[in-house]
Amino acid sequence: MSSMDNLIANVIRADVRANSAYVVPDASGYIKLDAMENPYELPEALRQELGQRLADAVLNRYPVASYATLKDKVKDKLGVPAGYDVLLGNGSDELIQIVTTTVANQERRAAVLAPVPAFVMYARSAQFAGADFVSVKLKADFTLDMEAMLAAIALHRPAVVFLAYPNNPTGNLFAVEDIEAILQAQGEHGLVVVDEAYHPFARTTFMDRLGEFENLIVMRTVSKLGLAGIRLGYMTAAPALLDEFEKVRPPYNVNVLTQVAAEFVLEHIDVLDAQAASINAEREKLAGELAALPGVEVFPSAANFIALRVPDAGAVCAKLLDEKVLIKNLSKMHGSLANCIRVTVSTPEENSAFLNALRTALTPA
Ligand code: PMP
Repeated sequence: MSSMDNLIANVIRADVRANSAYVVPDASGYIKLDAMENPYELPEALRQELGQRLADAVLNRYPVASYATLKDKVKDKLGVPAGYDVLLGNGSDELIQIVTTTVANQERRAAVLAPVPAFVMYARSAQFAGADFVSVKLKADFTLDMEAMLAAIALHRPAVVFLAYPNNPTGNLFAVEDIEAILQAQGEHGLVVVDEAYHPFARTTFMDRLGEFENLIVMRTVSKLGLAGIRLGYMTAAPALLDEFEKVRPPYNVNVLTQVAAEFVLEHIDVLDAQAASINAEREKLAGELAALPGVEVFPSAANFIALRVPDAGAVCAKLLDEKVLIKNLSKMHGSLANCIRVTVSTPEENSAFLNALRTALTPA
């Protein structure tokens, strides 16, 4: 053992040592359909104006700690109900971390529960916060197994249940009445985060249910809307709850450039909404074309990506890589995703390139 090995063994947590870093493949030269990004950039005129705003940003000072202007714009433009504040994060990744850290309990271990397959950061954040992650398998059609969910809630009394609505990586929306039943089962014992990262595409929300459920947190991001690069997430809940999370949020976690860019772009939200609408139209077209391919099973999606099952996901992904198309192989993520892949819906040109490459990949040599 080297002295560095000893140092690491002495100071780094065993569960961190056993883990690996979140892998993001290098996409240069590839058609990038693996990360649910919006393929469209801002129109040139808006980019010019944004450039000017960014040039005027005050970089030598810390951000205004209250983020009042940005919060007001988020609330106004993104449909947060009156009487509710928002907490901002460096992406919703950070919000997930703040939530799990806030509930992780030093006296008795807290549980964090999510149906799986789910967004991987729920489990990672729970683990690193020192909470126990409890997973409940979705049914084969990726709907919630309510019997198992309610049994797990009764047994583990999770401090938080995370529900992505629509779900990543499967793309479907869980039934509203199932989510209501989970909110009720959690009651005053636990929170429910409804993660609406894909709201720009799904256009259905629990925002207007906040008054009914004291334990509801609605979480969103501007990433999928077309601003993944600026890293901005927001969440809302009853004011007394948000006050608690606010204590855990690192001060100045949203930087000045993000603040200026978000305030400007939210003034032009119609441009991003129109892009999301055309991506939705493309999703329907692509889903139809995929379903017509032999041996392909397409899962319903309300998001800007499609999950599908192919005869051999490993071979398909390898052939797509040869054709310079990057998608996500879900096979190893969870047993129920055997031979499943996930593709981001993109421009008509990139979708055709993917479809053609997939057709070739599926054709026997
Ligand atoms: N929630 C879900 C369900 C997601 O799929 C993602 C990103 N893939 C996020 C949260 C994180 O988004 P961001 O950190 O970019 O805001």
